[in-house]
Amino acid sequence: MRISDARYSRDRMRFDLALRFIQHEARTSTIRQWTGLTDDRIRKLFRTYIVEDGAEGITRHRGKSPQQVSFFTRSPQMRQEAAVLASVCYMLGVMPAARVSDARKSLPGVQRGEALCEAYEVYRQLVGTPRISFEHAVFLVTALARGDELRATHCAGCRGLILVDQGAMPTRGCGSCEENGQERLL
Ligand SMILES: [Zn+2]
Repeated sequence: MRISDARYSRDRMRFDLALRFIQHEARTSTIRQWTGLTDDRIRKLFRTYIVEDGAEGITRHRGKSPQQVSFFTRSPQMRQEAAVLASVCYMLGVMPAARVSDARKSLPGVQRGEALCEAYEVYRQLVGTPRISFEHAVFLVTALARGDELRATHCAGCRGLILVDQGAMPTRGCGSCEENGQERLL
């Protein structure tokens, strides 16, 4: 492959990823972090996509990005949904092999971004009415990779993946094992 071809295909991959992020209603700053494209190119891409392809119903989100890990553990349903999303992220290689303290900086990249989109799309298919936005999915992956506030572990009853909020009451089991009063949890 000639150098110009290589650069072209690398650019192409960034654009494709940015489009996928836009379809999932990611914020401009998130798209910039993960694709390395400038805000200006992202804005143009956004305009072209919305105006020329008529992709209405796509909203641009402003304001602060998600920051509270308790979002994922606030209810049994949410814990379960977040666990589904996290499981798919682990299976599709979105998560790094070890904990990374500067996850916000070191995690983003085109390859991982593609895997993340893949994981998010699978999650949406698996869950009836998905409650986790793409921005929250990015936050979940980052928080889990950092592992200081939120970590993934196995349910002591069924070995399924559960999420543990370090700042909340300790929990050893998934929702259904806790509900069924699994002895192994005691
Ligand atoms: Zn369980």
